[in-house]
Amino acid sequence: MRQDIMTDTHSPAGCPQGQGDELDKAARGRRRPVYLVLALLAVAIVLGSVFWLAQQYAAAAESRRAADRLTLYLSTLVSALEEHQHLPFILARDPLVIAGTDGSENGELNRRLESFTDEAGVDAIYLMDQQGLTIAASNWSEPKTFLGNNYGFRPYFKAALTGLRGVFFAIGATTQEPGYFIAEPVYGGPGRIAGVIALKVDLTPLTRAWREGGETLLAVDPRGIAILASNPDWTYRTLSPLSDDVRQEIAAERQFGNEPLEPLDIAGGPGEVTIDGVRYLQSVGPVGHLGWKLHYLTPFDRINGQARQAVLLTAAVLLLASVAFLLVRTQRIRTALFASQQQRRGLQQLNRRLEAEIDERRAAERRLELAQKELQKVSKMAALGQLSASVTHELGQPIAAMRNYLATAELPNSGIDGEARELVDHLNGIAARMEHITGQLRFFARAEPKKLDRFDLRDVVAPVLELMEPDLAAAGVEWSQEVDDDPLWVFGDALRIEQVLVNLIRNALDAVSDTESPQIRLRLTRDGEMARLSITDNGTGMDGEVLARAEDPFFTTKPSGTGMGLGLSISASILKEHDGRMEIANTPEVGAVFTITLPVCDETGDTQQVGDASL
Ligand code: ADP
Repeated sequence: MRQDIMTDTHSPAGCPQGQGDELDKAARGRRRPVYLVLALLAVAIVLGSVFWLAQQYAAAAESRRAADRLTLYLSTLVSALEEHQHLPFILARDPLVIAGTDGSENGELNRRLESFTDEAGVDAIYLMDQQGLTIAASNWSEPKTFLGNNYGFRPYFKAALTGLRGVFFAIGATTQEPGYFIAEPVYGGPGRIAGVIALKVDLTPLTRAWREGGETLLAVDPRGIAILASNPDWTYRTLSPLSDDVRQEIAAERQFGNEPLEPLDIAGGPGEVTIDGVRYLQSVGPVGHLGWKLHYLTPFDRINGQARQAVLLTAAVLLLASVAFLLVRTQRIRTALFASQQQRRGLQQLNRRLEAEIDERRAAERRLELAQKELQKVSKMAALGQLSASVTHELGQPIAAMRNYLATAELPNSGIDGEARELVDHLNGIAARMEHITGQLRFFARAEPKKLDRFDLRDVVAPVLELMEPDLAAAGVEWSQEVDDDPLWVFGDALRIEQVLVNLIRNALDAVSDTESPQIRLRLTRDGEMARLSITDNGTGMDGEVLARAEDPFFTTKPSGTGMGLGLSISASILKEHDGRMEIANTPEVGAVFTITLPVCDETGDTQQVGDASL
């Protein structure tokens, strides 16, 4: 029953629970690697998407940042280029400078130019005559002085000679150091250019600052030559191979000294370039009026680094979420398990209650069955009582008359003797048996309640024995008895208890009739609150059916006319009236033992009113 309740709810149709579980488990086992692969695939897709999105986002952010940085570096470069552009203009109007154009002794001018150089923080200031010969220079005292050198080939000189301001970037022809040159014409008189004053600005601090700032910048002139670069290897390299014309032009101006002007290992479009195998995000801006372009390069590594960080962060979040999910799931499973255990316990309790109820119901059914049997017995006995009453009544008179006639016939002067007397004796026997039968029937007929008195059960034994003595002797039975020394007080009708005892001894006599050395034993003892009286014989004993049915009214194994099958039934009824009972059993060896038990009452016990004595 318990199993039904426990298993029916979850068992798959047509499949026993245990087997269903095994199948489920096996199926789950097979599906597990698939789930794992799917989960890993999902994680890979999520992380890939995150990487891609983060890369896009970082690229957009970096390109915004690059635009800002480019603007900043453009302004610093332009300001570095323009910072000193007015100085030559002013110097060109200095009387000492103008006076110096005639090539006279310029010792004072040299010193003045030297002090201006120091003050302005430029590389050098120098004055050239109309042919480009340097006639005064701030570095007059240095070994690599410009003095005496002719720079007439430089475009800035040529421009100044035409009255314009000349600007030019070149590697110094004398010092071999790069610089930005600014030149202004020096007028000796109205409209007469007597010389050119020029200054050289060192731009290397700028590139150093780029490098130290961790930035990647490239300033390229209109011909695609990298003039300034944060990476020294890129300086004087070209974005594309130079044509021969351009190379000749450069050689004429001696702009880049002996630099080979090799092309850079560069590829890519305007937004993205790869230089020397490294990918960069590129932002380009024009540098003032020079036609230069400044390239601000952001290594893709930085963008990828940010994307990688985002992926790591996402992975960490996913991991944390998975851990949290697993924790919550574990908690839920634990709770569900607890709940199911509770439910199981509840079901077990319910099962136990059901089992108890079923047991109770079975016991009740058994009681009912017994009660029904009892009722049948009672109704049989009641019917028997009525029948007995009328039979004893109807037969009583004729038997009494017969007895009288027979008594008269037995008188000495009746004249009956010989065979007739034998017949009278025979009839007397028949009448006695008839009386015996009606006597038994009368027992059933008696309906009035009986007053029971307290009596010593031991007192019943003697009269019964006296009554049975002749029969016992006739049957050659070895009688033995064991009676308690103390009184055994019981309530009841002593005569009826005697009747029970007579019944039992008579049955025992019948049972031992074919036994070689018949024995009957009476035992009367006290067992706690009960008086126990047993009659044991070494007779036939009883088989199973006889044992079960011995108490049934009219059940007998004796030949017709010998037994009516009422003795035990009556005895049981009598004992029941006395709150006693009878146990019937076979002895371990041969024969049967009938034990009656009656409640013992104390000596001061009152008499007791009992019900219908005849049932
Ligand atoms: P009856 O003696 O008229 O047959 P009882 O009710 O006294 O009716 O006994 C019923 C049956 O129980 C007997 O027929 C007999 O088979 C069996 N029985 C009773 N007492 C004994 C006994 N001591 N040994 C063996 N069988 C017995």
